[in-house]
Amino acid sequence: MGWQYGIIFDTAEEFIGYIRDKQLAKHPEVHVHGTWQPDFADFTGTNHLELQDAMKKFHTIDRGWDDIAQHITIFPDGKIVTGRDINNPPASAVGYNDPDDDHVHPFMFEMVGNFDIGHDKLDGVQLDTALRICRFFHIKQGAVIKFHNEMTDKKTCPGSGVDKAWFVDLVYQGWSPESYLLYTVEEIYDKDSSFHRFLYLKQPMFYGEDVKVLQSRLLIPVDGIFGIQTARALLCWKKSHQWNGTEPKEIVTQKVWHAICGNL
Ligand SMILES: [Zn+2]
Repeated sequence: MGWQYGIIFDTAEEFIGYIRDKQLAKHPEVHVHGTWQPDFADFTGTNHLELQDAMKKFHTIDRGWDDIAQHITIFPDGKIVTGRDINNPPASAVGYNDPDDDHVHPFMFEMVGNFDIGHDKLDGVQLDTALRICRFFHIKQGAVIKFHNEMTDKKTCPGSGVDKAWFVDLVYQGWSPESYLLYTVEEIYDKDSSFHRFLYLKQPMFYGEDVKVLQSRLLIPVDGIFGIQTARALLCWKKSHQWNGTEPKEIVTQKVWHAICGNL
């Protein structure tokens, strides 16, 4: 099942679980925005979808964009509503959207509120959800955190009341190695560079010469470890080659190996 617009998630973890098999693109940056409008006064506690639809309408009809700008919106109650497909580049900031189709672009989220000094305060469950999303993209995937106001001098977004250093500090405070370093690597390095086993993402992760060959053919960093990046590159390769094998899409079978690596 592909990405769907307008799904509500109660927590960041539920959303992260949802994208586990949907995040095919690479997100080297996570862009942080505040909506300014709508703000807290527009949120009734139940009108998540109405506000999301209104933003989508504004972006597509008034602005003429092809979709709602953001990948997700985080509401004052900490809930998340999906927007634009994460595998498509966002409309985050002019010159920073990486809009080509190379499957590499920023992840963008909006937080509902006017976070300029003297207005709404980014706090509580909404802040917590935003931090968890940033931990996932920044700490687990290495994405750089960027505030909208770092990409333009015309806006205070996400708001003059949200200090970047304070925010990033909080992203790191909630981090624990146990919750993020989920994967380990096989102890023994496998020296066989030919196809001799199915390859896929597992724990402990495959570690060997065959993985190195695969990685060099997929044009990704070669470390011999079949990790998340290799799994993602495999999915991208199958998608871009319109591969329709009968095997599960995250697995390298002999047939897939020969298609990617040739008869080595
Ligand atoms: Zn913004």
